[in-house]
Amino acid sequence: MSRSKFERVPIAEQDPKVRATNFDEVCLGYTEEEAIEEAKRCIQCKHHPCIGGCPVDIDIPRFIHHIAEGEFEEAAHVLAEYTALPAVCGRVCPQEDQCEVVCVRGIRGDAVAIGKLERFAADWARANNIELGQTKEKNGFKVAVIGSGPAGITCAGELAKEGYDVTIFEALHEPGGVLVYGIPEFRLPTDEVVKHEIGNLEKLGVKIETNVVVGKTITIDELLNDEGFHAIFIGSGAGLPIFMGIPGENLNGVFSANEYLTRNNLMKAFRDDYDTPIKAGDKVAVIGGGNVAMDAARTALRLGAETWIVYRRTEKELPARVEEVHHAKTEGIKFEFLTSPVEILGDEDGWVRAIRCQRMELGEPDESGRRRPIPIEGSEFEFDVDTVIMALGTSPNPLIPSTTEGLDVNEWQCVIADDEGQTSKEGVFAGGDVVTGSATVILAMGAGKKAAAGIDKYIKEKYGEKSHA
Ligand code: FAD
Ligand code: SF4
Ligand code: SF4
Repeated sequence: MSRSKFERVPIAEQDPKVRATNFDEVCLGYTEEEAIEEAKRCIQCKHHPCIGGCPVDIDIPRFIHHIAEGEFEEAAHVLAEYTALPAVCGRVCPQEDQCEVVCVRGIRGDAVAIGKLERFAADWARANNIELGQTKEKNGFKVAVIGSGPAGITCAGELAKEGYDVTIFEALHEPGGVLVYGIPEFRLPTDEVVKHEIGNLEKLGVKIETNVVVGKTITIDELLNDEGFHAIFIGSGAGLPIFMGIPGENLNGVFSANEYLTRNNLMKAFRDDYDTPIKAGDKVAVIGGGNVAMDAARTALRLGAETWIVYRRTEKELPARVEEVHHAKTEGIKFEFLTSPVEILGDEDGWVRAIRCQRMELGEPDESGRRRPIPIEGSEFEFDVDTVIMALGTSPNPLIPSTTEGLDVNEWQCVIADDEGQTSKEGVFAGGDVVTGSATVILAMGAGKKAAAGIDKYIKEKYGEKSHA
């Protein structure tokens, strides 16, 4: 039976019961035939609103047109003009709120599956060893990029293509930022996808120095004054976890989501051939309702725990992507809505044994526009769990601003930068989560791209087109 043109071509996924017991990727991607069929749903609109919905301005109709014609290599080359991370974004970008929300096809029926098609083209190029990206002649200017997450990778890639000599300094032993330490394998395979896209960056000539904590190993002022860098981009993210400040948070068995996920993803605690310790837990409560909470809960489930998401508002207000909530539910995660912990209770050995919670109701909207949760008096109850994971958000680490002369931050420790990424300090630019606070991969990439243009303009205005050093 042929499908209506209003319906999206469905994509294959691992069965929920099977995938709840493994760390393999959930979504299996389109086949060539399926990708062509879905690409043909794009009507190549003259005004292409989809492009305006993409923070890195990908020429969406052009790459989709190539897929529709079976020209997969050409589609991958179009993507490479605009993005260093197409296979990543095709998987984790909140496309339903970005390019797809404005797709004309979505007015009557399903929007074109832009993200899934982007993933298809990037995966096809990887599987077929297609070389992507070209650089201009070297201009002799040196730029240091701090942090190798999506903001840093994008800024570095854009500058390398323009001929700059770019070095990324990364605190951890692996590059990739949240893409490798935060987002789990079952959503974004590290070795197959992230490492490959970082390899493409290195092919553009970008150098990556890991295990360098800027602010400790070396400072920004030293990079500028002693190491000969003409400009700096800070893309150090927002990795400092926020806790609730309730009694019992210091008990054994309480994790920040960042620590729990880092142990699993970066340090591979889930694999028998690694000896990274993790307390998997039998009954795990994850506090929070964003993507990070879903990732932590689905990881705990795969490690064998009965798992709950505890969230103080209702399902309607969950900040996580709809797709992630759906996957969590079908895999067997349970939800306690309108519930907030007030204390974590321990046993005589100092391990978590339960959380004391109270029920909430929704009042008037707060400054975020969402209805404010209000505790219901006398509604407290105990909930037996042996592990608690706090997924309440993160803020930028104050290390870099506190060791850099003249770098201004706001009250949340976010570096202050304008639209081109220029900070209060000459020659120092910033973008991504370190500026906005915890946001998304594609917004960090958009900021990295704008900052690269800002750095290019700054250096050329100050030093000319080429370095004479
Ligand atoms: P990061 O990715 O945090 O990278 C910053 C890098 O800087 C890190 O590698 C860090 O080690 C390094 N660094 C920090 N300080 C220093 C220093 N002093 N010296 C040297 N290096 C330093 N977004 C989505 O769009 N979709 C999702 O599905 C999604 N899921 C998420 C799931 C989890 C678990 C988390 C934590 C986040 C998720 N996000 C998601 C958010 C997204 O990953 C971030 O918004 C994005 O990674 C921010 O990119 P960034 O480059 O600014 O920072
Ligand atoms: Fe859409 Fe994100 Fe891809 Fe841009 S990067 S086209 S917003 S899925
Ligand atoms: Fe194609 Fe949708 Fe973009 Fe129109 S808005 S060009 S249908 S992807």
